[in-house]
Amino acid sequence: MSAAIPEQHPADTEWHRWAPIGQTLDASGIVGGPVPSIRSIEMLPLDEMLVPERPRGGEVDPAECSTCRPSEFTIWADADWKVGAGFGGPTGLPFVAAIAPRRHVLLEDAPVELLTGLGPLLQRISQAVKRIPSVARCHFSRWNDGSAHLHLWAYARPAGMMQGRGAILPYWEQVMPAMPRELMDEYVGIVAHALAEGGGAAFPEE
Ligand SMILES: [Zn+2]
Repeated sequence: MSAAIPEQHPADTEWHRWAPIGQTLDASGIVGGPVPSIRSIEMLPLDEMLVPERPRGGEVDPAECSTCRPSEFTIWADADWKVGAGFGGPTGLPFVAAIAPRRHVLLEDAPVELLTGLGPLLQRISQAVKRIPSVARCHFSRWNDGSAHLHLWAYARPAGMMQGRGAILPYWEQVMPAMPRELMDEYVGIVAHALAEGGGAAFPEE
């Protein structure tokens, strides 16, 4: 018997009562900036915000969490963390990867000893990604809206790509054509082996 899905109702907080739900908002503030990437954006009306939210992947039953399963896309792992790349085939940016603990935890309930290793790991990933010849910078993000398993994303910002500075880079990832498979494999290999120099294993058998 599957668990009953709770009925949703509009969220009712002071902020939600203030939010201009139903209005179509002016997006011109997104478009500008010193090196614009976007000519124009047309927003859809702000939707009603319903709670409780539908569960994320692996939230109701951790046994169904895809991040917990072994993956052919894991390019590096150690006892605590793993890095995966190439999930959807070649990317348009030089390198995109997901970073996750091996254990099924959220940021909010992860043991502090585990999180203590995250800072040094992010440093190693940034250094490894910058070994790719075309890369200037490694950006990190953490949203966790799709899965109930802590994960972060790493995005390589190409050298000289001033339009890719900051939070716009993941949008460029969605519009850039896929690079050749051999080039992605070469770049993934650079990062995997650079990470393994500091511990853990490149392309581990899971
Ligand atoms: Zn999990």
